[in-house]
Amino acid sequence: MRNENSRALFERAQKLMPGGVNSPVRAFRAVGGNPFFVAKGEGCYLWDVDGNKYVDFVCSWGPLILGHAHPEVVAAVKEAVERGTTYGAPTKLEVLLAEKIQQAFPSMEMLRLVNSGTEATMSAIRVARGYTGRKKVVKFEGCYHGHADYLLVKAGSGATTFGIPDSAGVPEGTAQDTIVLPYNDVHAFNETMDAVGEEVAAVIVEPIAGNMGVVLPEPEFLKALREQTEKHKSVLIFDEVITGFRVALGGAQSLYGICPDMTCLGKIVGGGFPLAAYGGRKEIMQSVAPLGPVYQAGTLSGNPVAVTAGLKTLEILERDNPYPELERKTRQIAKTVSDAAKEASVPVQINQIASMFTVFFTDRPVTDYSSAKRSDTQRYARFFHALLERGVYFPPSQFEAAFVSTAHDDEALSATQEAIRFAMKALAL
Ligand SMILES: *Cc1c(COP(=O)(O)O)cnc(C)c1O
Repeated sequence: MRNENSRALFERAQKLMPGGVNSPVRAFRAVGGNPFFVAKGEGCYLWDVDGNKYVDFVCSWGPLILGHAHPEVVAAVKEAVERGTTYGAPTKLEVLLAEKIQQAFPSMEMLRLVNSGTEATMSAIRVARGYTGRKKVVKFEGCYHGHADYLLVKAGSGATTFGIPDSAGVPEGTAQDTIVLPYNDVHAFNETMDAVGEEVAAVIVEPIAGNMGVVLPEPEFLKALREQTEKHKSVLIFDEVITGFRVALGGAQSLYGICPDMTCLGKIVGGGFPLAAYGGRKEIMQSVAPLGPVYQAGTLSGNPVAVTAGLKTLEILERDNPYPELERKTRQIAKTVSDAAKEASVPVQINQIASMFTVFFTDRPVTDYSSAKRSDTQRYARFFHALLERGVYFPPSQFEAAFVSTAHDDEALSATQEAIRFAMKALAL
């Protein structure tokens, strides 16, 4: 595999950008080697600057449920750009997108569009604190909610990948109101809420965790979150930045039938552009300026190009209902991994729901952060590279979800299955 051009760019990039990248996991540190630089994406494929082609299971870390450069999305965006790229004044498109989001997520009675998942969670927490007049926030180990200071405590994603769950530069005072509990641990949660529930402004959770690798919630866990927050009048925030429009049009809350007070969306909702949203019960969202005292704003919020891409993406998802087909394809990949692993006597746990999954190299079920950390990350790194050599791009970290898109066709899937069999055999050696 040729890589001179990527290598040369990486050298230049490292002189200017920390690790040569604009977001840490892209640097391949967790799996070793150098990242490839992308020239183009189309459908389920990426091409790098050396002409190598990959079946892409990273899908920009979640947004691309329709694959790269979906023709209808591209056409809509081109038209939008011609009309100007930002106005800083309201548009009809924003109303249409807000209505569409609200239809899929009835719990979001009012909402705001922002530019990133980080902004969505940060704003939701501020609103919850403003609304309740309380300070404390409960989060769960291995859940990632963007990089706001007080949420970077035992966060997943890149923070887990690099073993720095607590970031430098976060003052103790900022994090001291964040209570971190183990995911899926109903007992620990109930005990904490019984002790300090009256001080808790918000409980924030990934209702299906995607940032310590995929970890499914015990239904009892989500139920306990709802009951306790109701009892103590804390705001329950579902961070559905990954799961919104991914596991179902209405996200994890529609699958599990649990209605949070607030929801954060990102990734898919922006159709491949920087766009995210937060919202919730009307009574709570009325605390946001200019209606209420909680300030939150953004020069590019509701950007017409991003909104167009998001709107078109949601329209397609609604029209085509690709979810059963996505699930079928993803199960097929998961089964191939599991069969190949068995044959090679490599212990794996595959956590999968809808079109997201993670292959953990461990013989015990992965149900929380500490069991996720038991996975053999060196083995994952070898698996990753064996796949990459065969033109299949899995997440360059054990602790990130792999995603399947509607653009993954039979040809790409059978190439992937072959690569998986090859990679598992290589691991057994
Ligand atoms: C990606 C992600 C975020 C952060 O979104 P950005 O757009 O990267 O700021 C927040 N929460 C979850 C669950 C995420 O997966």
